[in-house]
Amino acid sequence: MQHHEVIVVGAGVAGLYQIKRLIDLGIEATVIEAGGDLGGTWHWNRYPGARFDSESYTYGYSFSRELLEEWHWKERFSGQPENLRYLSHVADKFGLRPYMQFNCRVDSAHYDEAQNLWRLRVDDGRTGDGRALTCRFLILATGLLSIPTLPRLKGMESFKGQSFHTFHWPHEPVEMAGKRVAVIGTGATGIQVISEIADKVGELTVFQRRPNWSAPLNNGPISDAEMADIRRRYDEIFATCARTPGGFEHEPDRRGFFEVTRDERLALWDRLYDEPGFGIWLRNFKEIFTDEKANAEFSEYIAERIRRRVKDPKVAEKLIPRDHGFGVQRVPLETRYFEAYNRPNVHLVDISETPIVSVTETGLRTSERDYDFDIIVYATGFDAITGAFDRIDIQGAGGEKLADKWRTTISTFLGMMIHGFPNMLMPAGPQSGSASTNYPRGIETGVNWCTDLLEYMSAHGYTRAEATEAAEKRWTDHVTNMYAMMLMRKAKSWFTGYNSNVAGHEQGTVRYLVYNGGAPKYVNTINAVAAKGYEGVVLGADRGAAPSGSQPTAVA
Ligand code: NAP
Repeated sequence: MQHHEVIVVGAGVAGLYQIKRLIDLGIEATVIEAGGDLGGTWHWNRYPGARFDSESYTYGYSFSRELLEEWHWKERFSGQPENLRYLSHVADKFGLRPYMQFNCRVDSAHYDEAQNLWRLRVDDGRTGDGRALTCRFLILATGLLSIPTLPRLKGMESFKGQSFHTFHWPHEPVEMAGKRVAVIGTGATGIQVISEIADKVGELTVFQRRPNWSAPLNNGPISDAEMADIRRRYDEIFATCARTPGGFEHEPDRRGFFEVTRDERLALWDRLYDEPGFGIWLRNFKEIFTDEKANAEFSEYIAERIRRRVKDPKVAEKLIPRDHGFGVQRVPLETRYFEAYNRPNVHLVDISETPIVSVTETGLRTSERDYDFDIIVYATGFDAITGAFDRIDIQGAGGEKLADKWRTTISTFLGMMIHGFPNMLMPAGPQSGSASTNYPRGIETGVNWCTDLLEYMSAHGYTRAEATEAAEKRWTDHVTNMYAMMLMRKAKSWFTGYNSNVAGHEQGTVRYLVYNGGAPKYVNTINAVAAKGYEGVVLGADRGAAPSGSQPTAVA
């Protein structure tokens, strides 16, 4: 049986930085990764068009000046192959690979109260006792969008052509020229795939249930001179990201929506529509997130843009969302997405009118007719945020199952700890600052906080940390209350826990999964907790290992 001081689950963006921090501190640790290599999201999602919608240079790690100086991002929003090369470069540069075990899935993690240990069982071909691992601290860096979900359609196994979820896009090239291709799903993934393959396939049929609001990515190359300038400005760039709610360079327009004239609003929107990245969402007036009237006016502006870009008015109307306003679901950014529908080989099927009833040997059957395909692409999303936790049999103190605790409501302390689950940390968990912000910026914050806690415990002789029930309740109430202000609470999206393919989550009953207070407020809160000796966390020591300095405390 292997024992480690720390086991990190997941070798994605969070797991990589987490192991780097632990190695630097000389804390013995290993990373367990289900995939065949590191990279997480960027290892798996190899579909055509997969790329950042964060500016590349704000997505990269900020922790190493040398890394910042040597890496040249080639595009403002870099594509999957380069993103994976980057993460691989980071792992090699800092010697992280020897600490990683690949093709190894964690089946269960049970906390052993008597020994103050986590006992894991892994699945990687080992047998007997070899499958059992123990650790003092369990760090779950399992990703927020790492469990793909497929529709539950009759006949899916019978299809004779190629079919895959975008997350499982094959590693070897998929021959698409001349092929009849179906894409099901029009979220951020579907929109990227559709835009990229429209002019490369024979016929492309898009099966859309609900359209998403989407706006131009406005990507472009980064020249040597621009990269040199970015390198000079890195401190300033990261400082800006740290003070904006979204963790991007995009700062909200502080003028009141109703305090400026309609012409002034239009002037802002015309400018933002042509700017790169999430400016259209995050440089906008704050009221679009909270005020129905403001949101409706802006949504109509975007609808008009869609009408201008799509030649067939009937198709244009189908591409305009009716059930939610702009920005209350995660906004996909696109590159000539709407123009794809002007091509004679691209067809839109509105499956809210004619639902898919089954998959056949040769394609898809809707309530209206049969369609024949060579390839079916499922861009149908993820069991988001809690899915990766639900897939592991996690049992805390007294055998409490995490899946049971979270069955009806999600509750955490700061999105990083859970009452009843001592010594289990989530650098980017549900209700943390990561999901709703520029992900790697949130990850660095989370990893640093978790690592600082371990350092603090070591320095004070503590071996056990558990969030109190009261602290967890306070945090969860705070997260819940923030939703009350946001129009987002009414939308059926992964931000509110909706997934039509996961039993119990189909109805869109809101689950409070993301922190909406913005990055600066989140960082201030978690730093204040640390500054007060981890207020809200019970710190204790194993018998015989008396803590130096203060006694075990519970400050609820
Ligand atoms: P998603 O936003 O959940 O979209 C899934 C799509 O599939 C929706 O259009 C959904 O329709 C449709 N769908 C699901 N099940 C279906 C079924 N049974 N029948 C028909 N349609 C079905 O998932 P995603 O597009 O993979 O994006 C998830 C998140 O990943 C994004 O919001 C983003 O945070 C991240 N992402 C980021 C990037 C990037 O640029 N960096 C790219 C891709 C993804 P309904 O809405 O009607 O359910």
